[in-house]
Amino acid sequence: MSQRLEAALFLGRARRSGKILPEHARAHNRSLVLQTLFRGGAMSRADLARETGLTRVTISDLVVGLIADRYVAEQGVREAAGPGKPAILVDLDRDGHRIVGLDLSASDRFTGAVLTLDGEIVARHDLAVPSDRSDAVAAVVALAQTLIADAHAPVLGVGVGTPGVVDGHGVVLAAPGLGWEHLDLTRILSDALDVPVLVANDANAAVLAEHTFGGAGDDVILVKVGRGVGAGLLTGGQPLAGARSAAGEIGHVTVGTDGGPQCACGKIGCLEAWLSVPSLSSRLAALDAPARDAELRDAGERLGIALAPIVGALDLSEIVLSGPAELLDGALSRAAAETVRTRTLATFHDELQVRMTAQGQDIVLRGAAVMVLSGRLGVS
Ligand SMILES: [Zn+2]
Repeated sequence: MSQRLEAALFLGRARRSGKILPEHARAHNRSLVLQTLFRGGAMSRADLARETGLTRVTISDLVVGLIADRYVAEQGVREAAGPGKPAILVDLDRDGHRIVGLDLSASDRFTGAVLTLDGEIVARHDLAVPSDRSDAVAAVVALAQTLIADAHAPVLGVGVGTPGVVDGHGVVLAAPGLGWEHLDLTRILSDALDVPVLVANDANAAVLAEHTFGGAGDDVILVKVGRGVGAGLLTGGQPLAGARSAAGEIGHVTVGTDGGPQCACGKIGCLEAWLSVPSLSSRLAALDAPARDAELRDAGERLGIALAPIVGALDLSEIVLSGPAELLDGALSRAAAETVRTRTLATFHDELQVRMTAQGQDIVLRGAAVMVLSGRLGVS
């Protein structure tokens, strides 16, 4: 592991050992400076001292190190308002490093991007998902190598959003669509690429993108509707993993006691059977406009029935939907919002928002970048 800014890990270790060592404090302070610039944009060293509560001397010392490591760069001067020296501004060094993000969640293509430290996409590559499942891992490695070769700067890390259940070490416990079981994708990629690698479930990556770039609050569920239905959860701003790393796996929760469509898992009336893009699209194909609307409302109501107890139990303030807007944005999301409101306590959940993500198709790629920013720099 890199000796650089593993602030979150350092602090975890420091807490366990019961004392804060100087190098831990330094890593923490470096993260604090980077986080302040990430959120606040370019500012002077004096501004940084004020924002972080650190001394001017400490800030100057940290900034020297961060400039040497190409995380921070000087950005010229700000004209002084009164007498005195104009202040030199410092900001994140946006060209100093790049991040590579991979999204393995689509059924036909693995997609990837090279991103700046602000999550802006500067290059894209993709390739077809091999029909032979044993080739899928090799394809992921090849895609990551192509992206790293196209980064034109040191790569801070590779973040991967994959379908399936992924444990806290980035091992894919089960991804039936890809035929993966107990696959240590993190180890395979780090050995092949020689850069730090972070792997998470695609919906868990997506909720991080919504939190960092989409303005979502700290208590939010992101429901990702595609070939399947999954969710990523943040409570108190922290990802919720669950006992078996499967928090948010709501696709095979049965909704209602009135039967419903047959699900691929063998049960009847799973949320995924009501709501997945293939299932919903095929039911809509045969319908005229009013019947379409009724079908979408029904699907939204099913989603609301599944989400209401989650919203109530975790006291969430937002539900964000990610998937095809022509299906989700409209009758479906309105019905979901109404259903959640009528099935939860009005005092707390009357203001509950159900909205589409503004991150579009790139939500998993940008979430993968947040995983790298957070894991490597302590920034989110
Ligand atoms: Zn099912």
